[in-house]
Amino acid sequence: MAARGAHITPNVEVKPSLFEVLAADSLNVTFYPAIKRVVDFLATAKPTVFGGLVRYYDEFYLLFNSFVQGYYIRRYGGSLAEIFYGLTRTSLRSKTFTTNDRNWSFIVLVLVPYAIRKLEKLCDRWKEDYENGRHVSTNRQLLCRMLPYAKACYESVKLIHYVSYLANVTQTHAPSLRILGLGLTYLPEEEESWSFKDMLHGKVKVAAILSTGLLRCLELSAFFLQFIEWWQTEANIGDLSKLPIPDAPELDANAVKYADVCPICLQKQIIPTALSVSGYVYCYRCIVTHLQSEGRCPVTKYPATVNDLIGIYSGDDE
Ligand SMILES: [Zn+2]
Repeated sequence: MAARGAHITPNVEVKPSLFEVLAADSLNVTFYPAIKRVVDFLATAKPTVFGGLVRYYDEFYLLFNSFVQGYYIRRYGGSLAEIFYGLTRTSLRSKTFTTNDRNWSFIVLVLVPYAIRKLEKLCDRWKEDYENGRHVSTNRQLLCRMLPYAKACYESVKLIHYVSYLANVTQTHAPSLRILGLGLTYLPEEEESWSFKDMLHGKVKVAAILSTGLLRCLELSAFFLQFIEWWQTEANIGDLSKLPIPDAPELDANAVKYADVCPICLQKQIIPTALSVSGYVYCYRCIVTHLQSEGRCPVTKYPATVNDLIGIYSGDDE
């Protein structure tokens, strides 16, 4: 029985099951929202430090993804998610993984998703413009209308690929891999185990420590994210990023100095009017005259116009 099993095993192991390849695919698409959630959380806690990350999240993720996927493609011949599930990429014809395959894999794994995300955001903006009555060119309108159909088509092609992979008709489960002429196979067992003692004696390469560390972090964070998701649905507490309330910014010397007076005439404000770009409160006449000639906040020098003024109704005005 064991002998028979040993005879069968090598043939079975060449092609991973559909569940394994799908698990790798679904892990791959979790990274973007998972890291986004962490970034949102950090930005809510410390807006001054992490605010920019939210604004340029796509670019930040592109950088992160380029680094991580680039490393895994070069080192192991597959994406991080594929390696995580013990899979690697191989050419369907030559059974190798050439530099050309590496470059194309990088483009499809990193650059194409970035471009699609950007296009979707652009379409959302055009749609908004169109709904608000602004002019949007016919080509752009057509592109916005075609995009959902293109996505639906791609999903259908993917489904057909899954079925044919399951039925052993094709050697690859994803249209993107098929275009590149690549398939997934099991990662050969590599002797990569090392002890803490080896590490202290400098026998282990930094890259090996980093890559093992990254994989362990990934396992932990995957578990952690599932836990958070369960916790959120159980307690129904809404978005995690809304939990902490950031501290109010510290008052600077000017804010204390101009607490009750108009920073321009240094008297109690007549018709108190706040400038929204800086938060300082002036007399209506003082600030309007100043903005018309200078075009910026007298205290902070932030650019401003009369459209940035907000009337304040405190109740004790005459
Ligand atoms: Zn004044």
